[in-house]
Amino acid sequence: MRQIRMVDLKDQYERIKPEIDQAIREVIDSTAFINGPAVKNFQSNLEKYLGIKHVIPCANGTDALQVSMMALGLKPGDEVITTSFTFIATAEVIALLGLIPVVVDVEPDTFNIDIQAIKKAITPGTKAIVPVHLFGQCADMEAILDISREHNLFVIEDNCQAIGSEYIFSDGSRAKAGTIGDVGCVSFFPSKNLGAFGDGGAIFTNDDKLANQLRIMVNHGMARRYYHDYIGVNSRLDSIQAAILNVKLKYLDDYASRRVEVADHYDRMFSDNPRLKIPFRSPNSTHVFHQYTLVVQECDRDALQSFLNEKEIPAMIYYPVPLHMQKAYQDPRYNKGDFPVTEYLSRSVLSLPMHTELDGDQLDYITSSLLEFVNHS
Ligand SMILES: *Cc1c(COP(=O)(O)O)cnc(C)c1O
Repeated sequence: MRQIRMVDLKDQYERIKPEIDQAIREVIDSTAFINGPAVKNFQSNLEKYLGIKHVIPCANGTDALQVSMMALGLKPGDEVITTSFTFIATAEVIALLGLIPVVVDVEPDTFNIDIQAIKKAITPGTKAIVPVHLFGQCADMEAILDISREHNLFVIEDNCQAIGSEYIFSDGSRAKAGTIGDVGCVSFFPSKNLGAFGDGGAIFTNDDKLANQLRIMVNHGMARRYYHDYIGVNSRLDSIQAAILNVKLKYLDDYASRRVEVADHYDRMFSDNPRLKIPFRSPNSTHVFHQYTLVVQECDRDALQSFLNEKEIPAMIYYPVPLHMQKAYQDPRYNKGDFPVTEYLSRSVLSLPMHTELDGDQLDYITSSLLEFVNHS
């Protein structure tokens, strides 16, 4: 059996090596390493794929979030509501900009931001909501849009984990994750569903004026060379990464289908086990399974993880420490016990290997090993 990896970038590359190598070669030959044609090309293909007017490429997902907040004019002291159960970058940029992160709990089934909790957290100082489409499934965007209209708030979608997934509105219409709020932010970190061979990111918006401003801001606030209209940042997607992403974008939907097949297989093996809660699939969203995350109940989750690791099956805990309990984010407003769902999840979740290259032997070995522990401990 081939070695099992949490994310298998090597075998994925091998399948499309000639195309990728050729794309990289072309950029090298052109020497247009920054803002070259490959970047424009990827940008317009991604705009088509998403059905959005503007994609603004940038250096990574964290910058995408930061620059979005800057361009929307958020000012120190403004309150920004986000979830307690996410990767740190979401809150990090809020804190770095001097904004006030207002943390709310998540829903126990989807792990996404709790709508009732958002409503309770709104004050006259609230300026924006940052929902995170965690693990590949959209937060309840229709409800979030309703709240944002009522209170005149910006919605910034942290779509770093859900590119390609679709939100399904109550009237049956669909929109791609990241294209629903005022802006959407994505990461092309190698292990994400659309991963580069290094760092990368992008911002999505349908707003022409905002798009223009974002494009200027990621390039030192420079509209014309050496004329600076805004205080910006240096955050560009380099041409080699864009060329690679342009090739991989063609396969993104196939990659998602493969991930769903793996998730279906895991579901079949685990669904009637009382100690395992399989991922909930929301009727409001398709799922692209950035992660396949079980909730382990009445069974020692950490011992299960060690058991799997000893059998050379990687399994990870996303995320072991809720935001409000992180050392750097200690805040007198929040205490242990304030976000019971997040705290429960951080003690109980376990993510299994999930990628496009898992084969039947590997899946059988993973599921039988996991059940061996769960049924006999
Ligand atoms: C990966 C990720 C980010 C940050 O993306 P980078 O490209 O690594 O900066 C932000 N938010 C979430 C939810 C992520 O998963």
